[in-house]
Amino acid sequence: MDHEAQPSQTRAPAKPASALEQLEALGVSGILRQLAGDGQIVEVRCEMPQCYCFRGRRYFDPAPLCSDWSPTADHYPRLKMHGGHLTPDNVRLGHKFCNNHDFIWRQKINAMLAKRMSLDEIAARLNEENVPTIHGTNRWTPAAVRKAFVS
Ligand SMILES: [Zn+2]
Repeated sequence: MDHEAQPSQTRAPAKPASALEQLEALGVSGILRQLAGDGQIVEVRCEMPQCYCFRGRRYFDPAPLCSDWSPTADHYPRLKMHGGHLTPDNVRLGHKFCNNHDFIWRQKINAMLAKRMSLDEIAARLNEENVPTIHGTNRWTPAAVRKAFVS
């Protein structure tokens, strides 16, 4: 056993792959690839307020798989349901699963706000319906509800 093996020259610290290279490796096309090509994506990570990926925010499945952990372009800050389009100023990179769940609880919360329910009542309802909570918590609280729809 040779524990003193020198790191070979090929092990020299490689330049980390750029966002564009990472997205191309994942087979991403469309607006996300365009943004990365224009230097408008800082890093390839799930940017949703709540990320549910057990492998972490930086892990993505290849786009063509269309799995829960494939990258998607989220309409943000102007949501699709509010007439937002996927323009460079309105795109957030997220896992498909996180993107879908963001949409589900946003819709629920928005509907309850429209009914003039208090944040307390909304938190209680979300807990009753087992809507997935913010990362690192196991209950919806009034503060979490407020944070969820203003983030
Ligand atoms: Zn995520």
